[in-house]
Amino acid sequence: MIVAIDGPAGAGKSSVARALSARLRFRYLDTGAMYRALTWLALRQGIALDDVTSLEELARENPIEFDEGEGVTIAGHDVTARIREPVIDSSVPIVARHPEVREVMRERQRALGEQGDSVIEGRDIGVVVAPHAELKIWLVADPRVRAERRHAERDGITVDMTADDMRRRDERDAGNTHRAEDAIEVDTTSLSLEQVIDRIERLVRERAA
Ligand code: C5P
Repeated sequence: MIVAIDGPAGAGKSSVARALSARLRFRYLDTGAMYRALTWLALRQGIALDDVTSLEELARENPIEFDEGEGVTIAGHDVTARIREPVIDSSVPIVARHPEVREVMRERQRALGEQGDSVIEGRDIGVVVAPHAELKIWLVADPRVRAERRHAERDGITVDMTADDMRRRDERDAGNTHRAEDAIEVDTTSLSLEQVIDRIERLVRERAA
């Protein structure tokens, strides 16, 4: 079974998808981390973020690896912490905008999804990467709450700055953020992580039955 979890930044996708996959013993795939890692490598190699030919080649030659925990590696570099820095937040939508880059990423995402039960989180999973997913969740939250959550994970910036950054990123990602018609909306604004996971787990069990 594939559980697709899509939604905007800060809605709680990563925390929810990670904890849900642990509870269900499903594989977990963070597709945002893939775009982040590629962006980190492009910046490190001095590749212009509009140089689509070089970016596509970079993506093809440097598959992103995930370890059993939260670790993310690209081209031999452990980028787990570095891909969460503000420079990546602001650059990643520029890289993710290129259809050629997305196609490379999607091929890999689909291949991982075909390996068995998985929870895949992103922005285009239920519509483009895995339209056949048995369960699609559209995760949302109040913008202020989203900014507060994201702020708690970042150093050196205020909640207002975080809210602005997130709004800008959502705008830039809008073209590649798709809500599936058959997705079930879960609003996490006033729910604890535990409550969100309980709710989705119930939906998974219903679908499986
Ligand atoms: O989910 P996260 O905030 O880590 O995603 C980082 C970025 O990766 C997004 O801002 C977006 O530009 C890109 N992304 C995407 N499609 C996905 C997942 C992420 O374009 N499926």
